[in-house]
Amino acid sequence: MRYGALEAGGTKMVCAVCDGKGGISDRFTTPTADPKETLRILYDYFADKQIDCLGIACFGPIDLHPDSPTYGHITSTPKLRWQNVDIVGNFRALGVPVGFDTDVNGSVLGETTFGIGRGVKNCVYLTIGTGFGAGVLSEGRLLHGMLHPEGGHVLLPMSPKDPMERGICPFHPNCAEGLTSGPALKARWGVNAKELGDRDEVWDLEAFYLAEALIDYTMVLSPEMFILGGGVMHQREKLLPKIRAHYRELMNGYIKTKQTADLDHYIVAESLNDNQGLLGAGEIGRLAYEAAQR
Ligand code: ADP
Ligand code: ZN
Repeated sequence: MRYGALEAGGTKMVCAVCDGKGGISDRFTTPTADPKETLRILYDYFADKQIDCLGIACFGPIDLHPDSPTYGHITSTPKLRWQNVDIVGNFRALGVPVGFDTDVNGSVLGETTFGIGRGVKNCVYLTIGTGFGAGVLSEGRLLHGMLHPEGGHVLLPMSPKDPMERGICPFHPNCAEGLTSGPALKARWGVNAKELGDRDEVWDLEAFYLAEALIDYTMVLSPEMFILGGGVMHQREKLLPKIRAHYRELMNGYIKTKQTADLDHYIVAESLNDNQGLLGAGEIGRLAYEAAQR
């Protein structure tokens, strides 16, 4: 079987053919430029790859309701040229089953199929990068609900130590994305997140906000593992110990499980070297293929 995989991101599109065992071949990347032109390049890439199905893990917000007239479209993205663009429809002429989900749902599926979360049925994957997204696997299924989780926009009590008066999200003064994304770090400290070095106050505040968000997800979703990725998590050595310490303090002994007793294995970094989204996209394709056989 050849599983086509497309990780559709706001800055670049990554395509590959997956083998369903964690292997990736024919990787190809193209910028997320003009939608018509970009979609044509992507179609042409997959057209001669003899794929049995295609899985797409896409930036959003996106429409995931199969009976909606705009199923498979990107909807209200801030990337204006990509608003209301029909992604799934672009690949219909390939004649293979096409699966479609969020980029972060792709990542949670990739990590729970091939990575550190293998076998975990309830898992939250977070990406903290240009934005902040949360993918959720609940009882072994990707969570969609009304739309899909928008975990970056949970509202967090602000720290009195924060030099910013409000976060940078245009919609919310104090959501997780507006307080913790790479651009939020730059707005707060005046330099690119990459160049913030070892400044303790920087990573302590970042970890505090991330721990607040994790506490909220714990209480509502009861995950058995948190997996953290994205550009900001390249600082994992500095961040993870601090996130765990703040998490323990904020939890204040309330939930007592084997996971909360062992935070080193409960709150972890991505394990697939930034291939989790692509491998997850391949799995999204496999699930679409299986559904089409029923
Ligand atoms: P995207 O979210 O666009 O897919 P990334 O996950 O790579 O891309 O996130 C990019 C963001 O991560 C940028 O805002 C950048 O400042 C931040 N970032 C990238 N590398 C690092 C690093 N080593 N340390 C801290 N922040 C970083
Ligand atoms: Zn917000």
